[in-house]
Parts: sequence; structure tokens; C-alpha cells
Amino acid sequence: MRKFLRTVFLVDLIQGLRVTLRASNPKNICTEQYPSERPKVAERYRGAPRLNTNPETGETLCIACDLCAKACPESLIVVSSERNEQTRRKELTTFTYDTSRCMFCGLCEDACPVDALELTQDFELASYSRKGAIWDRKMLEEGPRPKHYKF
Ligand code: SF4
Ligand code: SF4
Repeated sequence: MRKFLRTVFLVDLIQGLRVTLRASNPKNICTEQYPSERPKVAERYRGAPRLNTNPETGETLCIACDLCAKACPESLIVVSSERNEQTRRKELTTFTYDTSRCMFCGLCEDACPVDALELTQDFELASYSRKGAIWDRKMLEEGPRPKHYKF
């Protein structure tokens, strides 16, 4: 009889709804509300690569030594340069970094003798195509510009 009454008066359904509504209360939400709230990543997090420039002159810090490319176990960094006949120094011409193949091990960053290459705390690396995952020098110097949503 008790079971019959519970079924007729939808007691189980109402109890289930109570649980759902209680969990929907914004005070009880404990999952991260990304993208309206941006997560704080760990201090030692290794994310988007950045090719640093001199903040005063805007010139690249990269000396085109190719050590990062040689250190990378995935061989995903391609550095090319040309020699300046006046200064006799190598100058960076192109720098590409395939983020889709990167495992963010940091070996390239450690190999760089002038701290030009850095793995930053930027974590939004998604792109609509595989081609978009290959970052050129401009992208590496400017960094990703993810859309910041406002709710
Ligand atoms: S983080 Fe590791 S896998 Fe990624 S480019 Fe650097 S060395 Fe290669
Ligand atoms: S190791 Fe550093 S300086 Fe050398 S090519 Fe890579 S980013 Fe440039």
C-alpha cells in the first residue's frame, strides 16, 4: 500500500527534483565556471610557447642558435636565420612551433641560452584546424588572444 501511494503521489520524482534543484543553487555549484571565471593555473604550469622580445626595442631575444630545435624530442621547432654581413651575426628569419605535437616537457625552454623561448601560463591553445596549431614567429611573439566572455 505504501509503495502504491508513493507511486501515485510521485514521491520519488519529487524527491529527485528536490535534489536537482538544491544542487542547481549557485551557492552549491563547485565546478569551475569557465569561461566566465578564468582558472588560476599552477605556478609551474607549462603552456603556450612565447618568443620573448626586448621590451624597450621590440627586437627578438632569439639569437637563432637552433638549440631549442635540437633539444626537442618531437622535432617540432623550425628555426631559420641568415647572417648579417655587416654585423657578422646570425639573425632570425622564421620560427615555427607546432603546438599540436608539443608535450610541453620544457626541454626547449631549458636549452635556450638567452631565455628567449618560454612556456607561459596561457592554456587556451585550441584552433579550428591543424594548420592553426602551427604558430609562426608573429604568433609566438604576440601570444594567443583568446576571447574573454562576459556573462
Ligand atoms: S616543450 Fe618539449 S615537445 Fe614541446 S617544443 Fe619544447 S622540447 Fe619540444
Ligand atoms: S634556443 Fe633560444 S635563442 Fe636559440 S633558437 Fe631557440 S629560442 Fe632562439
